[in-house]
Amino acid sequence: MLNPFEKLQIPPKANYTIDTMLKRLPKIGGTTVRDREIRRLKEYYERIKKYHDFVVQFPRIDELHPFYLEATRIVTDIDKLRICLSVTKKASAISMKILKEYINQIRKSPENEANRIMRQAFGRVSSILRKSSECIDKVIDVAKELKKIQGIDPILPTIVVAGPPNVGKSTLVSKISTAKPEIASYPFTTKEVHVGHVILDDFRIQIIDTPGILDRPEIERNNIERKATNAIRNLNGIIIFMFDSSISSVLSVESQIELFREVKLLKKVIIPVINKIDEKDDEYYKKIVDFLSKEGSKWYEISAEKGIGLDKLKEELFSLIKSSGTNEVSRN
Ligand code: GDP
Repeated sequence: MLNPFEKLQIPPKANYTIDTMLKRLPKIGGTTVRDREIRRLKEYYERIKKYHDFVVQFPRIDELHPFYLEATRIVTDIDKLRICLSVTKKASAISMKILKEYINQIRKSPENEANRIMRQAFGRVSSILRKSSECIDKVIDVAKELKKIQGIDPILPTIVVAGPPNVGKSTLVSKISTAKPEIASYPFTTKEVHVGHVILDDFRIQIIDTPGILDRPEIERNNIERKATNAIRNLNGIIIFMFDSSISSVLSVESQIELFREVKLLKKVIIPVINKIDEKDDEYYKKIVDFLSKEGSKWYEISAEKGIGLDKLKEELFSLIKSSGTNEVSRN
């Protein structure tokens, strides 16, 4: 399943269309005055049809996968979106109907009436478009934001990589992916999300990192980031939580542990991994290990960069993904 917004053709903003049409008018000619005015209205019709096609193709909100529904909630109020979809559909349908009627009227009227009729039609349609522009533009903005999540397939079994900034999340994604990870982004975050894939015994597994989302304590996250965390919860899979055992760690061990506890609240299978084992600080390392031992968690020690411990980790991850009855592991 692709991002349902991925193929959506997004039209320009409403006022841009009106302004463009105004500029285009003198440039549209014809063999007769009547022919010219009909051409002008036809061009307007084609531009407005783009809004109609856009709302018709807009994914049905009730049918969105929970991951994409949550992502939509990040960007907009769902009820407002429904209203705006309906406003856009009505405005474009009425405008198209008006333009058709006026084109017919031009055909039937004397030649010297053609320009007046065209201007009347142009005015009526532009006024409808202008009145609905706030809503039309809102739907456009929502679609643009949601398109950015390209490449994240909520149905694929997924390994989500969480952990503090700079711990090595994207390094790990690239090290265990079969090909170079793609770049996506979550709505309203500027950080790049890496989306990699592993092909294993005929199965495709998706692996993504979580910059700016699961990398700071809850209290420091803004509303959008909290909602993005919710979206992640709806992905089908397990979470790797990476601890940084090096002296260059951005978060203290205590803060890393706090973050780990929060990620655990997502109620997903969570695999603790201690990274940067090649540069581990003995004191940090001991604190992390003590904590994980007390938790009774089984953990892995790796160096994502140097490739240490990755085979063992991969083996465990893949067998977990395959055996977890909840996911419909999809065939290639
Ligand atoms: P992210 O912010 O969690 O995605 O972290 P990155 O993958 O961008 O890595 C941050 C920095 O840590 C980069 O300079 C990496 O080269 C480095 N790094 C990642 N993994 C390791 C590791 O296992 N050992 C060491 N020494 N450095 C690492």
